Amino acid sequence: MATPTSTTLIYKAKSKLHGYGLFAKVDIKRGQKIIQYIGKSITYDECDEITSRRYKSAAAENRAYAFVFQVTKDYFIDGNVPNNLAKFINHSCNPNCESYIYRREVWIRALRPLKAGEELTFDYGFDILEGIASPCACGERGCVGYVMDKSYRSYFKKHVAPLME
Ligand SMILES: [Zn+2]
Repeated sequence: MATPTSTTLIYKAKSKLHGYGLFAKVDIKRGQKIIQYIGKSITYDECDEITSRRYKSAAAENRAYAFVFQVTKDYFIDGNVPNNLAKFINHSCNPNCESYIYRREVWIRALRPLKAGEELTFDYGFDILEGIASPCACGERGCVGYVMDKSYRSYFKKHVAPLME
């Protein structure tokens, strides 16, 4: 299946943040449902196996994105499939979009109004261990230099970062 490069709302293009990103094609309203994060349904055990394999193979590149979303306790979506355009959305520590679960589906919606041409971002929600494997260069306020969920950043800064120096 050919990889789509756009929808009526968004398009894929080179990003200043990292590799490729998705950009608003038109003005988008706050709260608007933008794109579904599609993928393959997998179980907890499959998720465990897939993510550790991807982290190992990505370690050489000094970056690691697993592309896996947890939907329920034992239901995950592996977004690393060719037709999942949403996997190109980059992380930001001050994102303009968020992911959410709706009827066992993962969707991306706008946290604030987006202007046509703006790059879409969301917080990948990584924990500290996942975050340390994924440097962040978003340059936003509150960025600790790693892709890490907002709820971990102050703990990381206070207790973990000093140990890494
Ligand atoms: Zn950042």
